[in-house]
Amino acid sequence: MAGTVTQDQLVGWLAAFRDAVHEHGAHLTELDSAIGDADHGSNLVRGMDAVMAAVQPPPDSVGALLKKVGMTLVTSVGGASGPLYGTFFLRAGTAADNATELDVAGLAAVLRAGVEGVVARGKADLGDKTMYDALGPALEALDTALADGADAAGAVRAAADAAARGRDATEPMQALKGRASYLGERSIGHVDPGSASATLLVEALARALADPPADPPADP
Ligand code: ADP
Ligand code: MG
Repeated sequence: MAGTVTQDQLVGWLAAFRDAVHEHGAHLTELDSAIGDADHGSNLVRGMDAVMAAVQPPPDSVGALLKKVGMTLVTSVGGASGPLYGTFFLRAGTAADNATELDVAGLAAVLRAGVEGVVARGKADLGDKTMYDALGPALEALDTALADGADAAGAVRAAADAAARGRDATEPMQALKGRASYLGERSIGHVDPGSASATLLVEALARALADPPADPPADP
C-alpha cells in the first residue's frame, strides 16, 4: 500500500546504515580521536555487522526486528554508543509492537520513541554536543514535514537534512556529556562523532525510503 513503510524497507535501512558506517567508519573514528578515544567508527562497524547477521532471516514483525537490532547493538558495541543506539532501537521496537508495516504516523511514533529512549538513557540536552543534537532536530523536522502533508520519504528526507545541520552545529559546542566532556573547552572546534553517525542513520532511512531511481537509459 502506498504510504506505508514495509519490513523490507526497514531491513534496507539497516543495510544502508551498515554500508554507511563501513564507508565513513574511518572518518567517525577520526572525529572520535579528536575528542574521545578513537573507537566510534570501529564500534559501529562491529555493531552493524553483527546486526545484519542477526536479522537474517528478518523477524516477522517490525517490533521484533527493531528489538533484535537493539539487543545486538547492546551486546556487541561497548562504550557509550552501544547502549545509546541499542536503547534507540529497543524503544523503537517496543513502540512498533507486532505491526508488520508502518504507516507514516506509525513511523514517526517509532522514531520518536527511539529518540526519547536515547534521552532517557543518556540524559543529554540539546547543546550538550551529542548524537541528540542531530536526532532531536531530525525528529522535529520530521513532525513539521508530516504536519505539512509530506509523505514518509519526503518527511525523512527533511529529517536527514536537519540531522546534518544539527551535526554541523556541534562543532563550536563544548561537550557536556560523555567522554568528550572530560576535555572541557578543548572539545570546542570539533564535530561530535555521535552526531555524525546519527546523521548517517537518518540519511540511511531517507535513502531506503526514496523512490527507486529512474531506470537507466535504454541502450541506443
Ligand atoms: P565512547 O565515548 O564510550 O568511546 P563512542 O565513541 O562509540 O563511545 O560514542 C561516542 C558518542 O556517544 C559521542 O560522540 C556522543 O555523540 C555519544 N554520547 C556519549 N554520551 C552521551 C550521552 N550521555 N547522551 C547522548 N549521547 C552520548
Ligand atoms: Mg569513543
